Amino acid sequence: MAFVRAQRLEILPPYLFANIDRLKRQVAAAGHDVIDFGVGDPDLPTPRFIIEKLQQAATHPPYHRYALDEGCPEYRTAIAKWFSRRFNVTLDPQREIIMLIGSKEGLGHLPLACINPGDVSLIPTPGYPVYCSATLFAGGQPYEMPLRSESGFLPDLSAIPDEIRRRAKMLFINYPNNPTGATADLAFYQRVVAFAQAHDLIVVSDAAYSEVAFEMRPPSILQVEGAKSCAVELHSLSKTFNMTGWRIGFAVGNPDVLAALGKIKANMDSGQFTAIQIAAATALDHSDHVEVQAMIDIYRERRDLLVEGLQRLGWAATKSPATFYVWVPIPKNYDSMSFASLLLEQAHVVVIPGSGFGPAGEGYIRFALTIPQDRIRLALERIARLAV
Ligand SMILES: *Cc1c(COP(=O)(O)O)cnc(C)c1O
Repeated sequence: MAFVRAQRLEILPPYLFANIDRLKRQVAAAGHDVIDFGVGDPDLPTPRFIIEKLQQAATHPPYHRYALDEGCPEYRTAIAKWFSRRFNVTLDPQREIIMLIGSKEGLGHLPLACINPGDVSLIPTPGYPVYCSATLFAGGQPYEMPLRSESGFLPDLSAIPDEIRRRAKMLFINYPNNPTGATADLAFYQRVVAFAQAHDLIVVSDAAYSEVAFEMRPPSILQVEGAKSCAVELHSLSKTFNMTGWRIGFAVGNPDVLAALGKIKANMDSGQFTAIQIAAATALDHSDHVEVQAMIDIYRERRDLLVEGLQRLGWAATKSPATFYVWVPIPKNYDSMSFASLLLEQAHVVVIPGSGFGPAGEGYIRFALTIPQDRIRLALERIARLAV
């Protein structure tokens, strides 16, 4: 049989990190010590108290059976309590909360629940690639909203043409933002809710980094009066508690959108291991645990070390108030791919070229602060010797 892939795989944008992946393998194969600021996957372990809860819950036979699609009651109750403590927003655990097998799962499935072929999704660029691919899988059409430094990396909603507004069904936003490290305030969320209400849009707020913040406390879009009429917000334990491999997150907000998502999920998956949900509930119950606080301090120290080091070398790096990313403008005579290649070939340092996150990411590179301080120092020494 000559296997021919489904057309929906052919319409995905090209994988722009392939060049860097290949170069990285070449440099490592040549015996060089590669310092990898590439992937945003925490290097620190999950806090002990969460692991211990999983170990204990794993021995409980009722948890070994199929889990409820929407999430076990203990987990949803813990989410409601955390949300109320953290954002002062009341959620109905039955209708306004749904368990996700990581927030990426929710992002991937939401367009299937919300859009018809030809509908438009408004997506930020640079941005997390799943907003685009999930829209395409659902037969939708992505419309890119550029995030520019002049506007604090917030999209300019007034620049979206009338014809696109009419066809748009979903609006994706992500603050604190990957890759730019930018944050949004409540006034921005108010504008987004007003825009969505005026144009009958579903807002998907990706809040994966809401707890990875230093000089500020990121708000929730659900703090805006009336936001539940149009918005869902996706949260994840991945970055907050160093649990990327556990695959656990949740969505909150508009009950009709969540019910539609639940229907897709009921046909795609059968929940997440209940012991993982029980451990996640414990994590949320103790969200101010010392181990969680210590982790934020570690990211802050790494950020300060890297940004101050780059500034001393004359780079225009600035400290992100949140996320574990540093988004740095590159010299004018390079594009982001060639500059990332230069760093890799000459300094054996891996960064992600901004263009990999969409056209508006050109002119920047992204460092992920997921490596220890001694490695960051070594990277700075090597970068100082570069001729750029
Ligand atoms: C990491 C990340 C996610 C996905 O996290 P999960 O592990 O799937 O919960 C979602 N959005 C952004 C912007 C991310 O960086």
